[in-house]
This record gives sequence, structure tokens and C-alpha cells, in this order.
Amino acid sequence: MTHIFGRSTRGQLPTAVAGDGCYLIDASGKRYLDGSGGAAVSCLGHSNARVRAALHEQLDQVAFAHTGFFTSDPAERLADRLTAAAPEGIDRVYLVSGGSEAVEAAIKLARQYFMEIGQPQRHRVIARRQSYHGNTLGALATGGNEWRRAQFAPLLVETSHISPCYEYRGREEGETIDAYGLRVANELETEIERLGAESVMAFVAEPVVGATSGAVPAVKGYLKRIREICDKHGILLILDEVMCGMGRTGYLFACQEDGISPDMITIAKGLGAGYQPIGALLVQGKIYDAIAAGSGFFQHGHTYMGHAMAAAAANAVLSEIEENDLLARVRTQGEKLQAALEAEFGQHPHVGDIRGRGLFRGVEFVADRDTKDPFDPARKLNAKIKKNAFDAGLVCYPMGGTIDGVRGDHVLLAPPFVIEDAQIDELVSKLSGAVEKALAE
Ligand code: PMP
Repeated sequence: MTHIFGRSTRGQLPTAVAGDGCYLIDASGKRYLDGSGGAAVSCLGHSNARVRAALHEQLDQVAFAHTGFFTSDPAERLADRLTAAAPEGIDRVYLVSGGSEAVEAAIKLARQYFMEIGQPQRHRVIARRQSYHGNTLGALATGGNEWRRAQFAPLLVETSHISPCYEYRGREEGETIDAYGLRVANELETEIERLGAESVMAFVAEPVVGATSGAVPAVKGYLKRIREICDKHGILLILDEVMCGMGRTGYLFACQEDGISPDMITIAKGLGAGYQPIGALLVQGKIYDAIAAGSGFFQHGHTYMGHAMAAAAANAVLSEIEENDLLARVRTQGEKLQAALEAEFGQHPHVGDIRGRGLFRGVEFVADRDTKDPFDPARKLNAKIKKNAFDAGLVCYPMGGTIDGVRGDHVLLAPPFVIEDAQIDELVSKLSGAVEKALAE
């Protein structure tokens, strides 16, 4: 009998007992290649010596000192390092314990900012249909995943959801990529005008969509246009990089590849690389300054924010990324993973799209490549792929769900940045076996 409440139930799932680089090991000794870093978390693999040593060292000094009374060296150092590496103008950091907390903080900070600068009528959030921003009520209201929202709908504040930037399904025949990007970005302006710009406070989006649809990057130029629209209407741009940030795309912040600087960025997952639960909200100085000049403090907080152990882990993660040149490695290994996926699945009659950036890749399965028709949901293709892969010793992150009325089956891949060439081959070959078996079932 187990008393754990949730997914990880003894008897139904194997018990993880050890980690070895890109592999997890269960109690029977079986090894699993972690092809998705859990849910894009374990960017350094599972037994990183530097992070372990940093945690031991911090534990011997001080594990926790409440931020209502103290700051700590690791938290201060982490904030300095993150702002030094962040897009232009981002110079303040609010440390929390995970992705949903970072998104909640962003939404409340946006609201308080507009209160402080004398625009109390601004309270609306616009986000996108193809999005996931977390499971707490504010973050869930922001996200556009109907399945996750449905039963909680009466508890969620009203949020507008515009189209995602989802080239594979959204771009019309004959439409250029640039024209498509502009068209979907311009939906933001239409929605702002419909609501009345004076009532809108923020637009929230993932630069590369993760959990709802398997590594879908915005097309080139899309986020630039979004930035222009937000500026024109005085609206804050919040980019949710909880999944795609911290080097996952080959840039420390995914939006750096798009050449824009948002007003706020949320990060988590790869920040602690799974060694500690930590998230962060990074903000433009103007937001901090408005609050400092007004009421003087952000009216928010959680007990474990700025946790010294979590910050120590994140500092060690950043050192690993910097000293081992892991961003460059993510770009080269990412290209190799894309090439290997294309070699295996490029001509596959049931693979419609292979996409992503860096070591953040998605494969979308279709019943018919020409029509892009999805499989019947009753077939549970993605669940079968997950099971077959797991049986074969591969962790991958499959998803199904309805996006803009189209149900899809996707697999998200987000292996550790340290993945070797031979492990890329192992990943693709095990995935291929799992897919063929699932299609035959
Ligand atoms: N935002 C994004 C983009 C995410 O992918 C996730 C988690 N999948 C979250 C927010 C929520 O993060 P957490 O699960 O750490 O609360």
C-alpha cells in the first residue's frame, strides 16, 4: 500500500533508485535513456558531480534562511549571473520554486505595476490557445489547454486566447512564412482593439511551445511583431521560458534567437536541472523601479523563495553550462538529433512534422501525411508510444490533445545537453521501434 497521491504510485510504476548521466536506473537495475529530461528538466543528466558537490557545500553552510529576514550568497550570485546573461533591460530577479509560481508572480507583478503607474483599469491578460503556463489557478487561466482547464473553468479568470504560431497546421497554401508570422501576430492587435487597449495589461506566450504540442517554435519575425504591438499599446510582454529557457534551444534564453527583449521572462525546469525545485521571474528595471518608487514592495511571496540550496544548485548548473560550452553543444547535438529524426521518420507515412530548436524537438504523427488528418483519439497512439518506448528503456514525453480543433499525437524530446552521438542513435532507434509497434497495435 502506498500513500503517495498522484502519478508516481509504487506497484504501477518502477521505482527510480539511481541516475547515471543520460540514464535513470530502476530498482530492478533496468536502465532508461532519459530522452525528454523528464519534462525538459534534467538538462545536465542525473549524476552531475559539480551540482552534487555544490549542494553538499551549501548544506554544510546554511540550507534555508527566510527571505523576510535574510538574503544569501547563492541567491544574490544567481540573480547577478542571470541578469548579466539576460536580454537587454532585464535586471531584476524574483526567485521562486517552480514554473507555475513564476507565472503567477509575473501576472500579479504586471497588475501591481499598472496600479503603481496610475493605470488601474489595466487588468486583462491575452495568451494563446496552444499554450501551457502551469497548473495553479492563475497560470491555468492563462494557458490555452482546454483539456487541463475544462473542469476548473468556473474558477478561472477570463483570459483571451488568440491563435498559436503553429506553422505546420496554421500556414495556408501559398502563404510565405513571413506573411504567416505577421498574420498570426496581428491577431494580438485585433484582440487588443476588441477589448480596448486601456484594459489590457499583458500578453503571455512561450517562444517555443512545449507541453501542449511538442516543441513548436514561433516562426522568424513573429515575436518581433508581437513586441511592436505590445509597445504600441503599452502592454507588457511576458515570455514563458519555463520549458524552452535555460539553454534548451541553444541560447540561454530562447527569445535571444528571436532578437527581442520582453518585459518579463519566466524560467524554471532547467534552472535547477532537477537537482532542486527552483524557478525565477526576470523583469525589466522599469517595473522594479515603478514599484520601488511607489508602495516599495511587491505584494506577493512564498515561504521557499530564494531558497539557498535551490540557488546553489542553479549556480552550479550555470557554471556547467558556461564552462563546458554547453550552449554550443546543444546547437550541434540538436542539429544531429533533428537530422537523425529526419533520416528515420522524414519519409514515414504517419509522420507529418519534425520540428524544434536545439535539444528541444517534436515529432507529430498523422493518419494521413497529405491531408494532415490526425489519428482517431480512441486509438491512444501517443500513450502506446510512451509505453512501448518505456518498455524498451527510453523516456520520451508523448502528448495528445486538441489544438485549434485538431487532435494531434506528438512526442516531445528534450534530452540532457550532454547527450552523446551514440545516445542520439539509441534514442531515435528506440523511438522508431516504439512507434512501429504502436502503429501495428
Ligand atoms: N510554463 C511552461 C511553459 C511549462 O512547460 C510548465 C511545466 N510544464 C509550467 C509553466 C509550469 O511549471 P511547473 O510544473 O514547474 O509549475
